[in-house]
Amino acid sequence: MDGLMQNVPLTVDRIIDHAASWHGAREIVSRDAEGRVTRSSYADVHADAKRVSNALAAEGITPGDRVATMAWNGARHLAAWYGAAGMGAVLHTLNPRLFLEQIAYIANHAGDRLLIADPATAELVEQLLSQVPSIEKVIFFCNAASMPQTSFAATAFDDWIAGQPAEYAWGGFDENAACGLCYTSGTTGNPKGVLYSHRSNYIHALMTLQRDALALSARDTVLLVVPMYHANAWGVVYSAPAVGAKLVLPGQRMDGESIYNLIEQEGVTYSAAVPTVWQMLLTYMQENGKRFTTLERVTIGGSACPESIIRTFRDDYGVDVIQGWGMTETSPLGTVSVPNATVAAKSGPEQMAYKLKQGRLLCGLEMKLVDDAGNRVPHDGKTPGRLMVKGPTIAGAYYGGEGGEVLDAEGFFDTGDVSTIDAEGYMQITDRAKDVVKSGGEWISSIEIENIAMGHDAVANAAVVGIAHPKWDERPILLCQLKPGANASADDLKSFLDGKIARWWMPDDVLFVADIPLGPTGKIDKKAIRAGLEGYQLPFEVTR
Ligand code: ADP
Repeated sequence: MDGLMQNVPLTVDRIIDHAASWHGAREIVSRDAEGRVTRSSYADVHADAKRVSNALAAEGITPGDRVATMAWNGARHLAAWYGAAGMGAVLHTLNPRLFLEQIAYIANHAGDRLLIADPATAELVEQLLSQVPSIEKVIFFCNAASMPQTSFAATAFDDWIAGQPAEYAWGGFDENAACGLCYTSGTTGNPKGVLYSHRSNYIHALMTLQRDALALSARDTVLLVVPMYHANAWGVVYSAPAVGAKLVLPGQRMDGESIYNLIEQEGVTYSAAVPTVWQMLLTYMQENGKRFTTLERVTIGGSACPESIIRTFRDDYGVDVIQGWGMTETSPLGTVSVPNATVAAKSGPEQMAYKLKQGRLLCGLEMKLVDDAGNRVPHDGKTPGRLMVKGPTIAGAYYGGEGGEVLDAEGFFDTGDVSTIDAEGYMQITDRAKDVVKSGGEWISSIEIENIAMGHDAVANAAVVGIAHPKWDERPILLCQLKPGANASADDLKSFLDGKIARWWMPDDVLFVADIPLGPTGKIDKKAIRAGLEGYQLPFEVTR
């Protein structure tokens, strides 16, 4: 027997409709491409999003078409986001910090038809255009006066939407329709596209709004530091409007001073970012004797949160740190480290041990740990296993079928993280099975660097591993085994890599070894390398 409740599709246009109708005057503060801090509201962004839908339709964009953005966080980007999704197009966020070839690969794979980009990326866009024939038009997120000089024709976003009506009939499609596309390099091989649906984003917003998750409210002022091109912006692009929180979008500047000034000027109560950003902010505050007057809590995720950050926030500034775990493939939030009743009853130091874990599962998701044969291992807080997750906000496949079948026989997705789960249900990451290095919240592919290094005449075998770094969480170092009789220096290898990888991918050190350890199947044994490097220091002084 069917229930008799209304079957209203969970599409994200309803979220911004709600924000405009019931929190219409709530402010959106945005540091725009011109560097100015501008003020608008949910009602304004809603109207602009409708104009975007009309402008897209006028370009011939139809439901399912991919519309790319390559931009930092701003109100125009938000309008484009909802304008595309509302009319059924797929908003594809490109990460401007990737290497040109990677962005081109991703844009080609996605078949992006339009590109809406920050003017600061104009040079990159220029190079991209010759490599991505599917892009029919470029729009820059700015007004006519701020348009960059380019050799190709481009339109200013403000002009593009100016004459368009602020009315458009949104929705009308299935809640399972594609809504957003975000590629991740956190896997082996080429970047893979995670294709969010309206339903998955809507449910993720509701899941993350609970008190034991991000706990946003209408009274919060939310600073969205996590870039909108990264991991679905941790869903905050949906959860903040859903509750009518004031939203502060910081643009490109992520240094401690810029973030601090925004927090104080706008009365920010809540923010979310990777540890690197918080570390830069805390260093700035310590060096300049600054205090927070409004900030209450922050969510830290993307990499393990160091205890020193939690302590400094709590003891020196009275700010609560909540660690979250997730990945692009999980929308992204999966677990949150908040105390359950048992942990809340424990002493301070005992509670800290739990805060450092990645946390407890959100309702709606399932997780399990399995050994190499796929059998479940116990939740005893000691036995590590591959972390597998399942639920309506978890990827079921990659765009274009890349990577083939990604679910196990029980429908669980393999996260590539190795974890334990304790008796209280707290998941803790102990290792990473996927071969990547995470620096400042973004992936560096070890395999890609290894393959390039192996192209050097003197190199017989190469391995890249991540080394813990207090500012960037991890930095890559390159180990090279030279061919018999061959000679090469660290500088030779670095200049060989130069221009073939993004600059921030450059290994911090090159070590020459007699032998690169191999595992039983002939693959490089990264575990053995990491064990052998215990106590290794980066070749320069790290001050923060
Ligand atoms: P995000 O950076 O939003 O977490 P990514 O898809 O870029 O999304 O990265 C996901 C991966 O990052 C996870 O599989 C895990 O390896 C790592 N990660 C995310 N959050 C944490 C955390 N709190 N502690 C340790 N590692 C984390």
